[in-house]
Amino acid sequence: MQEMILCKLGEVVLKGLNRRSFEMKLMSNIRRRVSRFGKFKIYSKQSTIYVEPTEPTCNVGAAVAACKQIFGIISVARALPCEKDKDAILETAKTYLDDAMRAARSFKVESKRADKTFPLGSIQLSQYVGGHLAEAFPDTKVDVHNPELTVFVEIREDAAYVHGPAEPAAGGLPIGMGGNAVSLLSGGIDSPVSSYMMAKRGVKLEMLHFASPPYTSEQAREKVLQLARDLTPWCGRLTMFIVPFTEIQEEIRRNCPEDHFTLIMRRFMMRLADMLAKELKCKALVTGECLGQVASQTMDALRVSGDVTDLPVLRPLIGMDKEEIVRIARHIGTFDTSILPYEDCCTVFTPRHPKTKPNVEEVREMEAVLDIEGLCQRAMAEREMIKIRY
Ligand code: ATP
Ligand code: MG
Repeated sequence: MQEMILCKLGEVVLKGLNRRSFEMKLMSNIRRRVSRFGKFKIYSKQSTIYVEPTEPTCNVGAAVAACKQIFGIISVARALPCEKDKDAILETAKTYLDDAMRAARSFKVESKRADKTFPLGSIQLSQYVGGHLAEAFPDTKVDVHNPELTVFVEIREDAAYVHGPAEPAAGGLPIGMGGNAVSLLSGGIDSPVSSYMMAKRGVKLEMLHFASPPYTSEQAREKVLQLARDLTPWCGRLTMFIVPFTEIQEEIRRNCPEDHFTLIMRRFMMRLADMLAKELKCKALVTGECLGQVASQTMDALRVSGDVTDLPVLRPLIGMDKEEIVRIARHIGTFDTSILPYEDCCTVFTPRHPKTKPNVEEVREMEAVLDIEGLCQRAMAEREMIKIRY
């Protein structure tokens, strides 16, 4: 019999009446992610989703790695099924967990018996398997209170399963259960992290990037596409919308006070994001803003940029320190791409003395000289759409 994958559900188990829909969503997310590693059968029983290879060519290792990045799964274990017979179980534990048993100083066996017709009770089975394992691995002591290794034996309808400790997985909620949102992705460290954090809460993201060629380069554009690719193991397939921002920036520079340049630019970003969100029926915007990080992220500045949309603006990094953000960026694998030194449209025409305490009414007046509607329509009309696969 072939090794298979047991995925333990996280918060999904708390969902009461909605639970089944969470499980169904999670199973379809798993099915999509593992399909390129072979044909797997996917089903759920008792807060566990089983991912079972149906042919010997299935790449179980790659499927395990993929499952560890699927939100909604709290831990992943590899298990080996065997015949429902105490000696077959013992032999399987001995060979399958040989390395783990040698590495641990102490162990215990924990049995679960879903099939009540199995002749031994779970305590008796644990004692039987544990006793014989202790003989086979004399350097590994039995310790039922605080073992280094727990050997799990599960007796189910179809077979018995032996597995070692589960590895931690991504946690969170299945993508698609938290609604959908437009995430503003720059080339920086923060916005990939904010995208990841909202995806973790089950939000399906549509990615939006503003580019200002020729001020921003082809490499800067490629960098953002790479960030989106880096995010797909967590966020699933993504669609990236690239909206040209050059005309808007030039118009602001020509017509608005320099110290308000960034703020007015950010209002345009939020307006365009709002337009895209409404078109795609998204219910929120996501940004990588963090209180006090830069002049455009003071409380007054956030009020000014949030003023142009009636959608909730989700800012998951708002209370985090840069160090914490960097730690997550490294963990999710976006950091190295983020620090590539290509300019973003935010670094084009930055004011020497940006306004940190702007006033909404004043800013509205300053922009009134611009053809806001026309600028936004043209930018949206010229947007590009790129599908990002895993
Ligand atoms: P980041 O590290 O994500 O670039 P930042 O600290 O540099 O963030 P800003 O440049 O002020 O902050 O941008 C704040 C937020 O606005 C970003 O986190 C991102 O969500 C959005 N944003 C900024 N520039 C762009 C862009 N060119 N395209 C899309 N969104 C952007
Ligand atoms: Mg930035």
